[in-house]
Amino acid sequence: MIVGCNFECLHQSASNQLTPKEMEVCTICGAFLVVGDIPQRVEEHVSGKQHMGYAKVRDTIDSLKVICVTFVTRLPTY
Ligand SMILES: [Zn+2]
Repeated sequence: MIVGCNFECLHQSASNQLTPKEMEVCTICGAFLVVGDIPQRVEEHVSGKQHMGYAKVRDTIDSLKVICVTFVTRLPTY
């Protein structure tokens, strides 16, 4: 009886660990994030090196696109 109970408890904990969590991809850095994760973990991701680095790269690319468009529109047409 006790062995059966322990087996059932182990089985339940194992099945809980195997339950797939809903994931989403961060739109800034492409990391996998758990949907509905605790706010502390989300804040750690947003302030982390990978996310901050990708955000900086994206900002730089956007500013370079503006500079390129401005430069191209000022070129004389031949
Ligand atoms: Zn991210």
